[in-house]
Amino acid sequence: AAGTVLITGTTSGVGLNAASALAKRGWHVVTANRDPVKAAAAAASLGIPADQLSHLRFDLGDLESVRVGVETLVASLGRPLDALVINAAVYKPRLKQPERSPQGYEISMATNHLGHFLLIQLLLGDLQRSSHPSRRVVILGTVTANSKELGGKIPIPAPADLGDCAGFKAGFKAPIAMANGKAFKPGKAYKDSKLCNMITTQELHRRLHESTGIVFSSLYPGCVADSPLFRSTPRAFQTIFPWFQKNITGGYVSQALAGERVGQVVADPDFSASGVHWSWGNRQTKGGQQFSQELSDKASNPETAQTMWEESMKLVGLT
Ligand code: NDP
Repeated sequence: AAGTVLITGTTSGVGLNAASALAKRGWHVVTANRDPVKAAAAAASLGIPADQLSHLRFDLGDLESVRVGVETLVASLGRPLDALVINAAVYKPRLKQPERSPQGYEISMATNHLGHFLLIQLLLGDLQRSSHPSRRVVILGTVTANSKELGGKIPIPAPADLGDCAGFKAGFKAPIAMANGKAFKPGKAYKDSKLCNMITTQELHRRLHESTGIVFSSLYPGCVADSPLFRSTPRAFQTIFPWFQKNITGGYVSQALAGERVGQVVADPDFSASGVHWSWGNRQTKGGQQFSQELSDKASNPETAQTMWEESMKLVGLT
């Protein structure tokens, strides 16, 4: 059954194409972006029917904006929310100094993880009230944060690793910029934030699947090498990376296919298992099928997950 889904970050890339894929399946899509006008224009450029869309303002890097956005959503939607897609992200590998969110947190962790962590917590009640047969929270993970896969074994600039979350425990404000409290590495900050996304999925499943019936899953849609995510990388990288992924690794997927895969994980009965990290592999094959990808110890260790959860609850002001 078609339902209502909220997707974060739909002005480009995977989120925009996921909005299109779900609208084609008859879903109503609530978009959550820092610039709703830009979101409406992007949706129009793909021909998504305007009557299947609502555009709300959410800056995921600002916890206050997330709170206000959720209040607006709950007050204005007029229909239950059946699914949530955690997609918005920033990747800023060339920063020399950490950029900070309004709350003083390093910006990629603030946007990709903490803002979304708060969003999920605040919307769990609404998702639970939905009578949709399959209520789902779907989180975009990535291969570079999973050392069980080849793409996650490349230690440049450093593998994703939260350590014992010493940076979170110490309050995560300047001069601290990394979850483990160590020196700032912008590329690693992105990987760590995506590792948090994948750990969050696992911990949501462990804590809440049975009691709420909500299905929690993450996915790696493939390497969307030409998405605007790479806008802050050097120009040469933006040419070579898609070529490399198309011709050497075979990992390349188009933005449209990545969006379609997110649509499947949200809407298709084949994806109704909770606690799964879905993948179509590192090397794409024609007609390749999804499978449940095993996660690295760092992503599946229950102790790290519990610490990350508890510290994130504090950082977003819920405990
Ligand atoms: P894009 O850069 O195209 O999309 C990111 C989206 O997030 C944009 O709509 C952007 O909107 C939005 N966004 C950024 N900051 C904020 C913010 N503070 N508040 C609200 N929205 C924000 O990248 P992709 O489509 O490639 O990435 C989407 C997801 O897919 C990410 O989670 C990424 O980690 C994941 N992914 C991507 C892969 C890839 O190869 N590209 C591979 C695996 C996973 P705007 O800047 O206009 O506000």
